[in-house]
Formats: sequence, structure tokens, C-alpha cells
Amino acid sequence: MYNADMYPRLQETLELYKDYVALSSTKSLLDWDQQVYMPVQGVEFRSLQMGVLSRLSHDILMGEPLQKSLDLVKNNADLSPDEMKIVHHLTKIISKAKKIPASFQEKKTVLCSRAHAAWDEARSKNEFHLFAPYLEEMFQICREDADYLGYTDNCYDALLDQYEEGMTSADCYKLFETIKKPLTEMIHLLPKDLPEGIDRVYGKGNTQDVLKTHKEILEDIGFDLKKGRLDTATHPFCSDISPSDVRLTTRVIDYIYSSYSSMLHEAGHGMYEQNIDEKWNGTPIAGGVSLGFHESQSRFWENVIGRSAGFWKKYYSKVQSSYPMLEAVPLEKWLRYTNIAKPTSIRVESDELTYNLHVLIRFEIEIAVLNHEIKVKDIPGAWNEKMKNYLGIVPKSDREGCLQDVHWSVGSIGYFPTYTVGNVLCYQIFEKMKNDIDHIQDYLDSANYRPIFHWLCKNIYQFGKYYKPKELIQKVCGEDLNPKYFLKAMEQKYLNV
Ligand code: MG
Repeated sequence: MYNADMYPRLQETLELYKDYVALSSTKSLLDWDQQVYMPVQGVEFRSLQMGVLSRLSHDILMGEPLQKSLDLVKNNADLSPDEMKIVHHLTKIISKAKKIPASFQEKKTVLCSRAHAAWDEARSKNEFHLFAPYLEEMFQICREDADYLGYTDNCYDALLDQYEEGMTSADCYKLFETIKKPLTEMIHLLPKDLPEGIDRVYGKGNTQDVLKTHKEILEDIGFDLKKGRLDTATHPFCSDISPSDVRLTTRVIDYIYSSYSSMLHEAGHGMYEQNIDEKWNGTPIAGGVSLGFHESQSRFWENVIGRSAGFWKKYYSKVQSSYPMLEAVPLEKWLRYTNIAKPTSIRVESDELTYNLHVLIRFEIEIAVLNHEIKVKDIPGAWNEKMKNYLGIVPKSDREGCLQDVHWSVGSIGYFPTYTVGNVLCYQIFEKMKNDIDHIQDYLDSANYRPIFHWLCKNIYQFGKYYKPKELIQKVCGEDLNPKYFLKAMEQKYLNV
């Protein structure tokens, strides 16, 4: 847990906080188990367990002992800079938690579970009206949430700040304004039909075989399997139980490339969590700084590395041995398959070029509904119109349109822009890395990722939440978030300029 010698003046505070950390990580473990192993009928008892753990951890955070101990140390003039940082973060966590009344939190939790069930049914039946009343309530509860949290200009800012501290809707508008036109123009320039024989490759593979290759790749790129593991789940995710117990999941489905890209994506999240300086263990500085930064890491390994020639030169023969039908697909063709840009209705299946426009659609709709500019019942129409305008296609159904994502049903309104922050930041970081690492192209060509991994540890991973997201972008890149590197990379890749 925490290193008592490093923070002599915070011993009592961190000792109390330790229980909160342990309970929160137990919740993560139970959630991981629910998604990986738990039998279907275990759900009711699991909800009870989760509810009790939530209550206990909330009680510790809000309790008098932690508050008193924090008040005492706050006035201590001898705190070291690191101790001051910990006190600052802890104070922030507690004051944020205090803004939300327990009764409201409970109301939101209940709504989330009902709305999620309604969304599930609406999606499978392709009937938006079954979800609409819950979504209406969800937007209303998020408006109230924003009022509790507080904001200056737009209630969206309070919601977004929970995921990307310091980012506002004005920042989002600016970011999307910069990328929207170049991206839609590039999409219009894409060939209408893909060259013959170029499409996704589907096939049946042996799961154990595929996972064995995944583990080899994970060790090669820097994920420590002694401090983590890999399993399968329907929706891949990364769960950090503790810095020495980081669990990745992937899925082995018929779309072959998808299992490799999921594994690399989650490994990016996992390597970040495994490599935060140990001195922050058990303190509120532990963990990745924001969802956008986290996603920049997952997208780096998924897109920059996982779609590169060097990577597949090294690993493609192993993929072929798991999928015998790939014997007929030469490496060069596989590389083209993994770098296709083609508008699709489904966000999670979209390529790098079109992905951010899917996010833009969600952002514009969220903000319009929150601010009463459009009604929930009009979402399907607005969605399809935007799809047509930005991506040139209209989803076949709401199931493939506005019902596709889980986020709104679980109250995650204001979350989507962090995906675009990650996509854009990933290339900005890559640019800096290219300047810093001599002969980086040689390393990329030979799939030797050690120098890259060490650069990321040194410049990003180790800091945890020490800096604010905007400060860390400045520290790493020497400028604010700038989408020009992403746009340049997309042009080079898809328009060959
Ligand atoms: Mg992710």
C-alpha cells in the first residue's frame, strides 16, 4: 500500500484513506468478475455486494475521522511538496463527494440500472420509444447533477469535468471545429468502392491459441504479466485492481483483426496503470490522470503500433498459424485490410479517419438535449441527419444508430469527447516522441518497442495524477492540445500526400 516513510506527516490520513482504496479496488475486482466469470444468476447478490461496498467506501470518505485528520495536517507548515499535493487531491475528492447528496446519488444509481435494462431491450427490439422516457429522465438527472457540481457557462462543463478535468464545452467546440471540415473533406475523397478483394477478414480461430500469441505480444511491448493478466469478455475492458494487478480482456470474434486491436487497446490502458511511480501507491495521485490521456495511450498502441508494417511483419505469421484460412492472405494484403477507411454506422467498428465524427454527433446531440434545444424523442432523426451530413451514410436502424452505445443508459453524458481527446493527443505525443527518440523508425520497423515504452513511462506514465491533464499536455508536448498532428497523419495515411 502507501509508503509510510515517504509521507511521515500524513500517516494517520493515509491509513484511513487506505480502507477507502481497498474497498474501491474490491469493487473493481467484483466488477471484473461479473464481466468475465460470474454466472448469469449471480447478478442479484452481486448488486447487493456492490451496494454495501459503495456505502462503506462513501462512509469512509465522508466520515469524521478522515475529515479531522485532513484538517489537522492542512495546517502543518512542514509538509513536503508531495505531501501538499496529496492533501490537495484528497481535499478535492472529499469536497466533490460532499456536493452530491446521498439521496440524489441513490436516485441516480436506481435510474441507471432501470435505464440500462430499458436500453438493452430497446436496442434488441430496435424500438427507441422503449428507452426514450428513461433517457428523458437521465438527461434531467444529469442537469441536476451538473447543478450540484457547479459550472460557469454551460451545464455540460460540469459533466465533462468529471472525465476530463479542466476541459469545457468551449474547448470541445474549438477542437471539433478544427477537425470537422478537414475530416469530412477527406472522407469525401475516399474511393466510393474499396478495391476488389479489400475488405475485412473473417474466420474462426482457436481461442487458446490466439490468447497465447496475445500474451507473447503483451510481454514484448511492455505489459507485465506478473502484475496483470489477460482474459476474454464480451466487451473488452481494462480493470486496475491495483498497480500490481491490472487485468485486460479481449474478445476472439470472427472479425480477426478485432481481437488483436482490442488486446493492444486495453494493453495501452494497462501499461499506463502498471507504470505509475510506486511512491504514489495508496494515495489519491495513483492512477491515470484523465480519460482523454488514458485513451491517448490505448489508441497509440492500437492505431500507431497495431496498424503499422513493422508490427505485422513480426507477428503476422503467428496470426496465420491461429487462422489457417489466412494462409491465402499475404502480409501486404493484411496490412491494407487493417488500414481501410470506410464510413460505417457503428462507432466502435470505425477507422481512425471517421471515428471522431461519430463522437461529434454524440457531443452535439448531448449538448442540444441538455440545453433543451432538441427533445429526446427527436434524437433518432437528428442522429440520422448528422450521420448523413458528416459521414455520408444513414444507419439501417436505430439499433445501428442512436441505440448503439451503452453510455447514456448508465448516465455517462459528457463522456464521449474524451475519445476524441485521446485520438488527437495520441498523434501529438507520437510527434514529440519522434523528435526525442533517435532512429525511432528503425525501432518501429523492427517492432522493438522498448525505447518507446521507456519514453512513455518517463514522460507520462510515472506521474499519475500529479499534474492536471492540461498541465501534463503542456509538459509533454510543450503546447496545448493540438489536432494538427492527427490531421497530418490522417492525410498522409489515407490520401497518401
Ligand atoms: Mg479505451
